[in-house]
Amino acid sequence: MKAAVLQDKKFLIQNIASPKLEEYGEGAIIKVIGCGLCGSDIVKIRTGKAKNGDVLGHEVVGEIVEINSKTDFEIGDKVAMGHHVPCFNCTYCWNGNFSMCRHFKETNIIPGGFTQFIYVSEEHLKNTVFHVNLSLSDMEASFMEPLACCIRAVKRAKVKDNSKNLIIGLGTVGILMGEAVKVFGNSVYGCDLIYDRVCLSEKYGFDKSFVLKDVQSTLTEMKKTAPYGFDNVFLTAGASSSLDFAVKAARDGATIVVFSSVKDDMKGFCNNEIYYRELNIIGSYSPSPMDLEDSMALLEEGKVKTEGLLTQYPLEGLNDAVNDTLSNKIMKAYIKL
Ligand SMILES: [Zn+2]
Ligand SMILES: [Zn+2]
Repeated sequence: MKAAVLQDKKFLIQNIASPKLEEYGEGAIIKVIGCGLCGSDIVKIRTGKAKNGDVLGHEVVGEIVEINSKTDFEIGDKVAMGHHVPCFNCTYCWNGNFSMCRHFKETNIIPGGFTQFIYVSEEHLKNTVFHVNLSLSDMEASFMEPLACCIRAVKRAKVKDNSKNLIIGLGTVGILMGEAVKVFGNSVYGCDLIYDRVCLSEKYGFDKSFVLKDVQSTLTEMKKTAPYGFDNVFLTAGASSSLDFAVKAARDGATIVVFSSVKDDMKGFCNNEIYYRELNIIGSYSPSPMDLEDSMALLEEGKVKTEGLLTQYPLEGLNDAVNDTLSNKIMKAYIKL
């Protein structure tokens, strides 16, 4: 089968062996219809975490073509999935830190979404694979996993009613995060360096968004909206300078949710601000099966809009998709198989 295989930080289209269900016994073979390109895929390429020969991609929508399972999935079912499955029976799982579960980190779809066929295990089918409702397009369904990550972040922030929430970074994840906060009935504000993204966020229901010009004038502008500062600040931007901005935009006692990695780690950690201003700084990483379920429900109910966020590329265009994402030419790429 055709696959985009990583070679020296670029994707090469190669012919690789299709996964065989007989080799695994239980589980299913899924014909990939499409797969979203995630920011984390790009980070893995740039940092060298992904190695030569790897097939990346995990935001898969596909069709079951072969199955041996005790679940009620059948051949022909259209599905979307999460790629990691927690064990539900370890210290991490008992404490709700499902994405820290060692089993979670070891499980995956095989070989990865940027190819024609993948294998998913029986425990994936039981916990992280979901039927795609006919009302959803393939592209919409591919948002199940990234939206679930945002839903988890909103849950972890314990967003209270009538709270004022700021999303820093208005890429696709920032927009989804804002929509997730909105679903919980709260006001959402955004900021980004790019004017077009600020405008776009308001189309997706943000109450107001700000162009981040210089820090002081943006903070002054924000004071009109949130005189005490924001109750929750979500960092989706991946720039260490935004951590400092998040601390300044937060009200005393606020929660700051770290939702992306930064290149120059260890800058911007401000012990005394956290102490004297009683800030809660928390991380949120990847979704649990319950977050995936909530995400699919919100997409099906049309409560989260994704229209216009994706740009479609063929598998052969994956390198262009990465470049166009990095240069902010597009919001997010969807690779159509
Ligand atoms: Zn993802
Ligand atoms: Zn576990």
